[in-house]
Amino acid sequence: MATILINKDNFYHNLNQIALKTGSIEKIAMVLKDNAYGHGLEIMGKLASEFGIRHAVVKNIEEAERIKALFETVLILGDLAVKDEVYTFAINDLSDIANAQKGAKVELKVDTGMHRNGIAMDEVDTALQQIEKRGLELVGVMTHFRSADEMGSELFWQQKQFESVKEKVHAAGFKKVRFHSHNSAAILRTRNFSEDLVRVGIAAYGYNELPEPFDHVTLKPVMKLMAGKVAARRLSKGERVGYGGDFSAPDAMKVATYDLGYGDGWPRGDSQNAYITAEGLPVLGRVSMDFIILESDKEVVVIMDNAQEAAKQFGTISYEMTTALSEKIERLVI
Ligand SMILES: *Cc1c(COP(=O)(O)O)cnc(C)c1O
Repeated sequence: MATILINKDNFYHNLNQIALKTGSIEKIAMVLKDNAYGHGLEIMGKLASEFGIRHAVVKNIEEAERIKALFETVLILGDLAVKDEVYTFAINDLSDIANAQKGAKVELKVDTGMHRNGIAMDEVDTALQQIEKRGLELVGVMTHFRSADEMGSELFWQQKQFESVKEKVHAAGFKKVRFHSHNSAAILRTRNFSEDLVRVGIAAYGYNELPEPFDHVTLKPVMKLMAGKVAARRLSKGERVGYGGDFSAPDAMKVATYDLGYGDGWPRGDSQNAYITAEGLPVLGRVSMDFIILESDKEVVVIMDNAQEAAKQFGTISYEMTTALSEKIERLVI
């Protein structure tokens, strides 16, 4: 059976590395959206909570419900704000303020340059007034960086914009507001962190997507993807394998079918440029919906133990590799 092994020691190693940057565990908000980047929402929530993490970030209320009991605060990035003790809601647009339930805790997201979500810089005063008028509780002010993982000055320009937002919020008399802007890339390149919180996702899962010249923090991949043998056979020279017969045996060989396919969120890729597994085996022929074929007779094979390496083979990023993996795949903590 295809299985995802979750390495608790590696996860805690990564969290410790991040805590060294933030100065304390309390300042880490663990981003658990999209099934914890494919690692398993409840599993990662529980491990994070046991480590001492008190804050989480998810996409919607449905995800939040599943981990609510584990955290002091859960920031919900994309749902309408309702009144709740634990939940806080990102305000992505002025209309979110109008649609929020009275008494809801909100965190104002300000667009300092990414131009994806958040209210414009020149709407900050209006937003603050409307939050008060609507009887919402402002508990946070946040922004998101578009190029924290690239060299150059764009990050600093956005940070400067955010500093001016902080001044406005203070000037408007809001107290007890937590300010946060850093994602993984931003915190990994920061030397003197002074905000209240980081929203850390990919780094906690073990990947550093910063280019080489940055001060390198060693992280360890949390996930290992395994597949199990379903059927084995001998091929004679010239026999072809899978849909379209894209792979042709150069010699007599023993192959086996393993239970992982694009139906599990594994990329179909390109059979002419086969994926090489963590154990160095090329996938033979096309990936099927539920199966791949390898030259192996092992009962269990390691398909991927480093999503960043795998991502390079498919021309994508670690985030997409892990997040795509189906919720149906069993996850086990080791
Ligand atoms: C997903 C997300 C993050 C985490 O980003 P990483 O690069 O995985 O650390 C932080 N903030 C917001 C608003 C996000 O949507």
